[in-house]
Amino acid sequence: MNISILGSTGSIGVQTVEVVQNLPNFRIIVLTAHSNYKLLAQQARKLKPQFIAMYDKTAANQLKLELSDLSKIHKFEISAGMDGLLQAASLADVQIVVNGLVGSVGLRPTLAAINAKKEVALANKETLVAGGSLVMQAAKANGVTIRPIDSEHSAIWQCLQASENSGNLVEKSAVKNIILTASGGPFRTWSTEEIAKATVDNALKHPNWNMGAKITVDSATMMNKGLERIEAQFLFDLSYDKVKILVHPQSVIHSMVEFEDGAVLAQMAAPDMKQPIQYALTAPNRPKRPHTALDFWNMSTALTFEPPNFEKFPCLEITEQAAKLTKTTLPAMMNALNELLVADFLNGKIGFYDISNYLKKAFANYKYEQVESLANIDKAEEFAKNFANEFVKG
Ligand code: NDP
Ligand code: MG
Repeated sequence: MNISILGSTGSIGVQTVEVVQNLPNFRIIVLTAHSNYKLLAQQARKLKPQFIAMYDKTAANQLKLELSDLSKIHKFEISAGMDGLLQAASLADVQIVVNGLVGSVGLRPTLAAINAKKEVALANKETLVAGGSLVMQAAKANGVTIRPIDSEHSAIWQCLQASENSGNLVEKSAVKNIILTASGGPFRTWSTEEIAKATVDNALKHPNWNMGAKITVDSATMMNKGLERIEAQFLFDLSYDKVKILVHPQSVIHSMVEFEDGAVLAQMAAPDMKQPIQYALTAPNRPKRPHTALDFWNMSTALTFEPPNFEKFPCLEITEQAAKLTKTTLPAMMNALNELLVADFLNGKIGFYDISNYLKKAFANYKYEQVESLANIDKAEEFAKNFANEFVKG
């Protein structure tokens, strides 16, 4: 199986490279990044890909210089911009596209992969939040399976595959609820007053997972869980009321499925993204993988559960509103504005609670429409950009 990794220099991308090293039947033939040409060059020397896409054009030129020696002994192409990403997602020799891009920039490459009938292993949740109805329609039309990498969605997929009802038949099956677990992030035990003063460093200290900066801030605001509930609704074709959020600080249970007969299936593993990454590549098979086993006999703390706190984490309430309107452009606008606000927070331009405050303000000013094509989504993202320019930067 030939793999294309979109975002090979990121947290998911680097871990995908590690996973594939243990899978003799898989080969990485496409690498892409935004601008980290140094790491991409190292990966290219090791993996000898056929095709590389560097989103940033200057970085693409720097990469060409960096790899001038390799180009004498190995044939490969370097492309840039969105065109490069689209080619990377649809190259003829590729069978599986791993989408580890961050942000809604991942939407068009996902659609390109689906339209080229590639299997898609999807970490990039923003793709589904922004354009879930287009993506799931295209997947159905092309007979493509979207294989979740996000740990909660992988857990749900694993539970559904383990039950007698196939995940694809979930609407007809006996699924009562999906229970999405959340660690609660670094501020779970902080007071609202303390959270209001949270610094970038505080927000980047996730208790259980080591991830890219954007998703780590989303975990601190709990926006991440709201994005994930929308991701779950699309992936498993579930209505809003069937997805419940549960805080489980130890991140041992990665999510659960409750069935109509009262049974609950949970998927557990030590918190390590390489398990869901490998499963997305090899499902339903489970080849042996070097891992830290869960040691139930010597657990340092009990497994605990608590309801999410909507007052301390207003992004939960905001995403609930969008989750009730998944056929509209509201989730796309929310997602695009959140991306801009998280970047502003990381750059020290706004405070922690400004993220939710600006999102609330934008919701009050935004008229959503039905998603019929990419044009609707582009327009929603344009609204977010203009809103950020006018209110946040101004
Ligand atoms: P990172 O920020 O670590 O990596 C993002 C990758 O995408 C990098 O390779 C980056 O390139 C590339 N990239 C960023 N912007 C662009 C762009 N405009 N065009 C092309 N490439 C771009 O993110 P993560 O790996 O943490 O997250 C990736 C996705 O996976 C996110 O959607 C996240 O929510 C999801 N996810 C991540 C988990 C994790 O454990 N990290 C867990 C579950 C889900 P460069 O290095 O050059 O900037
Ligand atoms: Mg997750």
